[in-house]
Amino acid sequence: MQRYFGHKIKNNIILDEEDSYHLLKVMRARRGEEIEVVADDNVYLCEITSVKPLKIISKKLIKENNELPNYVVLIAALLKGDKMDFVLQKATELGVSEIVLMTTERTIVRIKGHKDDLKLGRYQKILKEAAQQCKRRKVPFIHRLIDFNQLDEVYADVKLIAYEGTRTSVATLNKKIDSLKPKQKLAVVIGPEGGFSEGEIAFAKHNGFTPVGLGNRILRAETASIYALSVIANRLETK
Ligand code: SAH
Repeated sequence: MQRYFGHKIKNNIILDEEDSYHLLKVMRARRGEEIEVVADDNVYLCEITSVKPLKIISKKLIKENNELPNYVVLIAALLKGDKMDFVLQKATELGVSEIVLMTTERTIVRIKGHKDDLKLGRYQKILKEAAQQCKRRKVPFIHRLIDFNQLDEVYADVKLIAYEGTRTSVATLNKKIDSLKPKQKLAVVIGPEGGFSEGEIAFAKHNGFTPVGLGNRILRAETASIYALSVIANRLETK
């Protein structure tokens, strides 16, 4: 069943203009059809009682929770165009709660000034659509762009930085994930195509980030994000 994010006022469900358009014009919804709507973090089974004008009422609360048991933050270096879109979509499917994009010494892409806002709007749309598709209750929160040296402001109970130069095995990553207690927060940092400089790794370590390896092969930045988040989701969900 199609899922939307909306608002609930008493039993009335309100969708924004774009979702209303999607429901009526793309999905060609008819009166009497049912949809799922997430409002205030709850999922409701709803019925379309009228299409012109669009009226949707909630019928019952659906008890389900597809969110990860812990709050996971992905901090990823900016990537070019469609690679960034890909990471945002996959990270949502893999359950992240928050995404922070950053520039680093070797980041090639730069977003400046107002263009930053435009991108953020587009990114939010990707996250929302991915969350609807994979039936999440929450759309990941995305931050304004930060610079690597702002990593000292990141708060999390477990802080990891993926670094191919570390000699530790993937067991370190597993152990760190397994050490999380309920409700604790995990942050994982993934670098750009050019990787992190030694100075950046030293700075991250100084600020409480543990360098972790993601296996014996050097992964593309987008693969590294997906690898790390898959392992995190898998371990948290098998706990
Ligand atoms: N500069 C490197 C590759 C960087 S890969 C080189 O060309 O040799 C891009 C990012 O993915 C890295 O900054 C790191 O965060 C992550 N990554 C890729 N493979 C990894 C691995 N085997 N272990 C840990 N992190 C990895």
